[in-house]
Amino acid sequence: MEKHMAVCPYCGAGCKLNLIVDDGMVIGAEGLDGVTNEGELCLKGLSGFDFINDTKILTPRILHPMIRREKGGELERVTWDEALDFTAKKLMAIKEKYGPDAIMLTGSSRGPGNEANYVMQKFTRACVGTNNIDNCARTCHGPSVIGLMDTVGSGAMSVSIPNMENADLIMLFGYNPSASHPIVARRIVKAKEKGAKIIVVDPRSIETARIADLYIQIKNGCNLAFMNAFANVIVSENLHDRAFIDAHTNGFDEWWETIKNYTPESVQDITGVEPALIHQAAEMYATAKPSAIIGWGMGVCQQKQNLKTVHTIASIACVAGQIGKPNSGLAPVRGQNNVQGSCDMGMLPNLYPGYQKVTDPAVRAKFAKAWGVPEEKLPLEEGYKLTDLGHLVDEGKVHCFYNYGEDPVQTEPDSAGMRKTLSELDLFICQDIFMTQTTMLADVILPATSWGEHEGVFTASDRSFQHFDAAVPPKGECRHDWEIFADLSTRMGYPMHYDNTEQIWNECISLCPNFVGATYEKMAPEGGYAQWPVKSTDVNDHGTPDMFAGGKFTTKDGRANLMAHDWEAPSELPDDEYPLILCTVREVGHYSCRS
Ligand code: SF4
Repeated sequence: MEKHMAVCPYCGAGCKLNLIVDDGMVIGAEGLDGVTNEGELCLKGLSGFDFINDTKILTPRILHPMIRREKGGELERVTWDEALDFTAKKLMAIKEKYGPDAIMLTGSSRGPGNEANYVMQKFTRACVGTNNIDNCARTCHGPSVIGLMDTVGSGAMSVSIPNMENADLIMLFGYNPSASHPIVARRIVKAKEKGAKIIVVDPRSIETARIADLYIQIKNGCNLAFMNAFANVIVSENLHDRAFIDAHTNGFDEWWETIKNYTPESVQDITGVEPALIHQAAEMYATAKPSAIIGWGMGVCQQKQNLKTVHTIASIACVAGQIGKPNSGLAPVRGQNNVQGSCDMGMLPNLYPGYQKVTDPAVRAKFAKAWGVPEEKLPLEEGYKLTDLGHLVDEGKVHCFYNYGEDPVQTEPDSAGMRKTLSELDLFICQDIFMTQTTMLADVILPATSWGEHEGVFTASDRSFQHFDAAVPPKGECRHDWEIFADLSTRMGYPMHYDNTEQIWNECISLCPNFVGATYEKMAPEGGYAQWPVKSTDVNDHGTPDMFAGGKFTTKDGRANLMAHDWEAPSELPDDEYPLILCTVREVGHYSCRS
């Protein structure tokens, strides 16, 4: 019997575990003393390893490469050489005929890990020559990434998961941790046990509402109106932190011009909330000493005005002075296990790895030099977003989609529309581990290794990098994702070669100032991790649990930008024909889209 250290692949809580292997089969999992889980696991981490051996009646693993020689023809099993030659030839033909921007790619926020994503975005930029790369954050916490970069300068949780239990108040706004991140939910229970106040604002009476000191049931579609009123109370009742605002923020007067119009009374019809409850919540939040956290999830992001709501939440934390000190700040807790990582690795149309802008000529020059390509090969324009794929194909702008470890037929809005889009492409490539509803439609299927069969680094929701090992050999003819991209790139005239994931990781961190101290050596022990920004390679320096210490934001001038917006009604409201409001949710026993 052997044990191999891994990080759970089911959510962004980043729980460390051992995979227990007997006779080449994973037969069990046990919690390890990782930084976020301290030995605990939820049922997914404890029992979700069985698919590595056999998916039984569920979606099967793909074990060998396949192609369709003709559009609409049958899938045919081929060798790796034939599959990669076929793919490279087709990609080069599309690039030659329509230009590099006719090709669009996704990163994978799931099992492959940061190194594979790094190599894929390098393939996209240095080999194909486009910034058309995105990831599932686009329909998840994408608005949080952009909204936080606009306001406080960094698009991630400002607090750490372990420190959540030391906060004096936690307010959950459209976030159900017991279903989506059970081990984060445990931290909230522990915070309550230590005396923290809990506020839950949600249309549904979620599990955490049971332990809340204040539960506010809001109407669907009111988020921005509610948060504007919450902000209004903080300032109207003189609960704001004037010294912090003056020293560390920009734009308070303009911000107040909008916020002053949103009294709790004026939005009662929109929110469905008694004004006294908004007063109570805002008073509790602003007076919590010394620390308070606002956590949010898809209740904010999968809504109209999602970005604007994130702007407002971040501004509230600044106006109340509840950021830039220990255990206090902002917690957009990321869903998929490595969606923070795929954003960290630049699987975004506007950012290189390490959140460096593609529009910045100095950044482009740095990457061009490191990757050995002429600067003009790397476009200075932002690429296309995943949510634009449908109309880009309709308009004849995109002819090839390379889908890597995602299942957009199930995860994007309008499955029928997505199927139509994929069927109209000149070339649809899927690199995956399962024959999903998306993979079935592909012209080329490249089988990759699964979590459990490869090593790498994941980033947990709270910016903690952690290393995971391989436990068992690859199934069938499956190959590591990064090897597939490197081989394809070489066939397309941009040679890439790496011996292992550590080589890839070292190249990545050497180009990203905030990741420089995240060495494999630091991540090797059971409790090893590196939380960005982490700039020292000293093994005892694990990085930054609370960002923006002393009110130093990572914006251009070091000050937070306060941003306010007017509320707009949802685009679709119930009527006699469509009388129901539905909302997206997670279930604790399900893995996201379940593939
Ligand atoms: Fe895995 Fe998330 Fe459960 Fe931890 S909380 S065991 S990371 S699914």
